[in-house]
Amino acid sequence: MTERATSIWGWGYADKFPDTEARRALAEQVSALLGGVPLSPREPAPLEALRLPSPRIAPPPALAALCSSHPADRAAHTYGKGYGDLVRGFHGDFSPAPDFVARPLSEEHVLALMDWCADHHVALIPFGGGTSVVRGVEPAVGERFRGTVSLDMRRMNAVLEVDTLSRAARIQAGATGPVLEAQLAPHGLTLRHFPQSFEFSTLGGWIATRAGGHFATLYTHIDDLVESTRMLTPRGVLQSPHLPASGAGPAPDRLVLGSEGALGVITEAWLRLQARPRFRASASVLFPDFLTGARAVRELSQAGLHPSNCRLLDEHEASLNAVTADGSAVLVLAFESGDHPLHPWMERALALCASHGGRCPEGPRYRDDSAPRASGAAESWRSAFIEAPYLQNSLVSLGVLADTFETACTWSRFEALYAAVREAVRSTLQRVCGGGWVTCRFTHVYPDGPAPYFTFLGPARPGAELEQWMEVKRAASDALLAHGGTITHHHGVGRLHRPWYERERPGPFALALQAVKATLDPRGILNPGVLLGP
Ligand SMILES: Cc1cc2nc3c(=O)[nH]c(=O)nc-3n(C[C@H](O)[C@H](O)[C@H](O)COP(=O)(O)OP(=O)(O)OC[C@H]3O[C@@H](n4cnc5c(N)ncnc54)[C@H](O)[C@@H]3O)c2cc1C
Repeated sequence: MTERATSIWGWGYADKFPDTEARRALAEQVSALLGGVPLSPREPAPLEALRLPSPRIAPPPALAALCSSHPADRAAHTYGKGYGDLVRGFHGDFSPAPDFVARPLSEEHVLALMDWCADHHVALIPFGGGTSVVRGVEPAVGERFRGTVSLDMRRMNAVLEVDTLSRAARIQAGATGPVLEAQLAPHGLTLRHFPQSFEFSTLGGWIATRAGGHFATLYTHIDDLVESTRMLTPRGVLQSPHLPASGAGPAPDRLVLGSEGALGVITEAWLRLQARPRFRASASVLFPDFLTGARAVRELSQAGLHPSNCRLLDEHEASLNAVTADGSAVLVLAFESGDHPLHPWMERALALCASHGGRCPEGPRYRDDSAPRASGAAESWRSAFIEAPYLQNSLVSLGVLADTFETACTWSRFEALYAAVREAVRSTLQRVCGGGWVTCRFTHVYPDGPAPYFTFLGPARPGAELEQWMEVKRAASDALLAHGGTITHHHGVGRLHRPWYERERPGPFALALQAVKATLDPRGILNPGVLLGP
């Protein structure tokens, strides 16, 4: 069976890129949204026109069978899937391409390659699904190295052990979401970690970036699901003890989580599993405006109800996602359990919303596994969520600036942060693009604060897209930090967010991190430029 081809430059499967006719129809809709600017579809650079430098180094003969210097492989491992990556790939610019791609089958292969890289001054870039949006897998490492290797972990993708009694599994880092869930399903268990990039991202990537799943509360960050990790470093194997909890000093896993390929190569981990959910309840609640909805969500997050979904969409986000079109903000609310029906939780949540003027015109929906799937606003939101990344491919082809960024802050800072960030993005879009849109939703909520997620759109000038995008990104990131937000709640630091991460992290911690890097990776070959400067 031939494997379904993925796009070299854009998100997902290549065959899901709409044809010119479909993109022309989209151009009309988006043009109306952006005040009538003329938009028309352009075509991505064909494979034979991709611009890559010639490889500077050849794979070591003993590992040559696992390596590829084919231009298509090198191009597919040059970038992640952020807006800047898509634009460069669309135009055929793959200048930071790795010299070759290695696909190890075992830890022995990883260690052999790591040794070879250290001996030959070659940078090694761990690569999971390549869905980074922060330039985390881009081999842009400066002149210090003789070459770069992209280490694609996806052939190490097995569920190695399942402990059904303790509800835990030992899983190899290269497993993508569908691959690991398919191996857990026969045991009636699930990891239940569903980032929007689930289909293509890997366990190793999730751990390395501290990914957030789509559940809004409780166990949603991969951090919450990790029991122990195994990371290969040039200084030896860092294997943390497999325990449900421990108070023995600083936790080794805390060093591995968020290490972004700069401290070692994660090869496997023990993860907490859950029963597959049977009972589900969902509802869509309409609020007159976003800030009123936010006050209701704050109360909900502090009531100990722990909804699985608690996404508040502002009015623009709701209409763009075809959830509502009447100018309301919408709360997509859901509960799920493998153990008990959920009526009391949903009823209490709706009562809290009603006390803030929230209306639920369609009423709540309840189902168990045997019933047909719910329909309505919650379901249209879900399908829009899964398909949304494909839309970015089309928008790039129309020359539209389209990106997202995210943060978290305390409830007491939220309203000021929201106003300031929106204004910073709106005014920068006006200045550099002549206009545009900025929308917001909550992806996660905590008792002490929300994780707001912003989307922006604007007409780009051909050839100037990257500078225009960086101006908006800079304005947004400065505003986040100035108003008490973090530079990232779940997208990671990579190369893109490093300047703001350096402002956010405490000085003594930066020194400690540098010392850890120098100890575990003394020649500095692992993903140079990520998290730490050269
Ligand atoms: C459309 C879209 C939707 C997204 N949705 C979400 C979301 O809902 N939640 C979220 O958290 N993120 C999301 N992201 C960001 C991205 O998917 C996450 O950062 C994800 O965790 C990356 O996983 P990956 O396997 O693709 O890693 P990659 O992109 O390949 O790598 C990311 C980083 O991890 C390092 N790395 C990868 N594997 C290993 C390993 N085995 N050992 C050591 N280091 C490693 C890399 O060197 C790099 O620094 C989204 C991205 C896109 C494009």
